[in-house]
Amino acid sequence: MAPVRAGRSVLSSSDETSSARGLDEAISATVSHPAKTGFFFDYDGTLAPIMLDPAAVRPVAGAVERSADLVTLVARVAIISARPVEFLQERFANLPEMPLYGLYGLQSYVDGEVRIDHEAAAWEPVMSDTARAAGRQAGRMVVELKPPVRLDKGIIVARECAELTTAWYFGDDISDAKAFETLTERERLDPAFTGVRVAVANGETGARLAALADLCVDAPEAVPEFLYSLVRALRDQLSP
Ligand SMILES: [Mg+2]
Repeated sequence: MAPVRAGRSVLSSSDETSSARGLDEAISATVSHPAKTGFFFDYDGTLAPIMLDPAAVRPVAGAVERSADLVTLVARVAIISARPVEFLQERFANLPEMPLYGLYGLQSYVDGEVRIDHEAAAWEPVMSDTARAAGRQAGRMVVELKPPVRLDKGIIVARECAELTTAWYFGDDISDAKAFETLTERERLDPAFTGVRVAVANGETGARLAALADLCVDAPEAVPEFLYSLVRALRDQLSP
């Protein structure tokens, strides 16, 4: 399995077993109810490396394949990113059934249709044009552009999780903390709900997000291997 270590809430002590226990509990909740489980991913720094040329960023090896596996095994898999949806569509062209949320959810690609959040519609052309012209990624090492609309990764995750009993969110920077908070709040309101917050650590912002996470993965390159362990567990459970 890819290097995984315990984050905040699964740690009752700093020994190895606490990490294993937290991970085991998360996997158990997932394989018990795959039809009520969702996996949600940030893109840059999570499923793809941070690069000097943001336009050149592609998913790490195995990221698309493992996403495809999960799409067949669990209720919901989606990408939630600061990138425009068209950028994400190009990267996940093999997975048209996987919902993509761009510009923090201002744009969505769901059921084969690109939509603009109705509140944000007036801002979308400006946001898209500016994001493209700037050639920068939102989040780390960059200018972050947000319209005056109440929409963030946490709100998208809350919508996506409405019918789920377990949800995983993978992110790498502090803008992903909103999604972590959504899972925490849902657990508070619904003790039967399991939220799994996974930080993909990095030297720049990793420590801040890791402090809020249940589990930490060392780098985007380690995420597909970690997902593969979950895919195997799901398949083992499903096979007679
Ligand atoms: Mg990111």
